Amino acid sequence: MSNTLMNTYGLRKTMLTKGEGAYLWDSEGRRYLDALSGIAVCGLGHSHPTVTQAITEQASTLLHCSNLFLIEPQVTLGNKLIALSGMENIFFSNSGAEANEAAIKIARKFGNDKGITDPHIITFDGSFHGRTMATLSATGNEKVKTGFTPLVSGFKHAPYNDIAAIEQFACANTVAIMVEPIQGEGGVNVPDAGYLAALRALCDKNDWLLIVDEIQTGNGRTGKYFAYQYADIIPDVVTTAKGLGNGLPIGACLAAKKAANVLQPGNHGSTFGGNPLSCNGALAVVNTLVDGGIMQSGAEMGEYMIRAFKDALKHTSNVKDIRGKGMMIGIELHHPCPDFVEQAKQQGVILNVTAGNTIRMLPPLIYTKEQADSLVHTVTQLIFQTSEQPEPAL
Ligand SMILES: *Cc1c(COP(=O)(O)O)cnc(C)c1O
Repeated sequence: MSNTLMNTYGLRKTMLTKGEGAYLWDSEGRRYLDALSGIAVCGLGHSHPTVTQAITEQASTLLHCSNLFLIEPQVTLGNKLIALSGMENIFFSNSGAEANEAAIKIARKFGNDKGITDPHIITFDGSFHGRTMATLSATGNEKVKTGFTPLVSGFKHAPYNDIAAIEQFACANTVAIMVEPIQGEGGVNVPDAGYLAALRALCDKNDWLLIVDEIQTGNGRTGKYFAYQYADIIPDVVTTAKGLGNGLPIGACLAAKKAANVLQPGNHGSTFGGNPLSCNGALAVVNTLVDGGIMQSGAEMGEYMIRAFKDALKHTSNVKDIRGKGMMIGIELHHPCPDFVEQAKQQGVILNVTAGNTIRMLPPLIYTKEQADSLVHTVTQLIFQTSEQPEPAL
């Protein structure tokens, strides 16, 4: 049926046709509890009325005019994100990878401007920064890169969550460190509490830019608007996308201090980036996230589920680790579990497996306690079924 689509996602069997709140429906009318949010996108759930209204109104007012003109919702959204982030200015893109492309260009030009014509950016093992040539070259996962040589040069991959090791990867050409506050695709890897602050100090000492990739962790996913805000630092560059539009294609690259004025007229651009439709929709998303207490209640529900998983799975032999922050939850098993996605779907739950053996949950931030309990129940029962040592009977 769908063999006209390039086979980039393997065989897809389920067609989703409707979403409302934390639920999705397929073309056969089956209902699913969404624990994926379209990969950390629909933080406010599906068909959120405020977002729908903002899109509808904008669609009948002005859909496109190009960045050769000021765009009212783009300016308003930009100011809002600058205030929320502590950054100074913003560039809008259509996706996460494009936001990172802008960040990489800023880092390279920052280097070139001070005479470093072969600048290097330090990124990390297990990282994911996108699928374009520069962002896949920045990514620290061989699977993403295999078959695509020649890669874009100028990236060095250091071990994640290891400050001391960075020294070995730095040189006179180093211009920036690019890091996810929590690695998403890499397996929901949460670094030590002092990690980002130590990276900030290292960058300050060496005149490197600190680029924080908040494409997955941003927009309330971990409980604060951006995850770096737990570390009480201000990066030089922040990128975000996914949850920003709740499903509209939009990304952003924010810059501050010495990164803020690196790009000048003619250096960068995008035809669609920051278009009126995406920006007016995203403005409704950001306002709803910030004003409604949704980030806080989402984070509480996430922490509640992490505790519940830890409690329910503490005697389960095939569970290696349970980790996460807010609504970003990973359960690492001792063995690869690709079939878990389909098994969960059979039980009416949409989730994801990443890094081969990590069950990943990225629920909408609007979960009720009942929905949280339902997710914990379904996932723990499925894990018990595949465990050698089932949960002892009560
Ligand atoms: C998803 C993701 C990207 C890429 O975003 P796209 O919108 O798919 O291009 C980059 N970095 C991180 C951390 C991501 O999770």
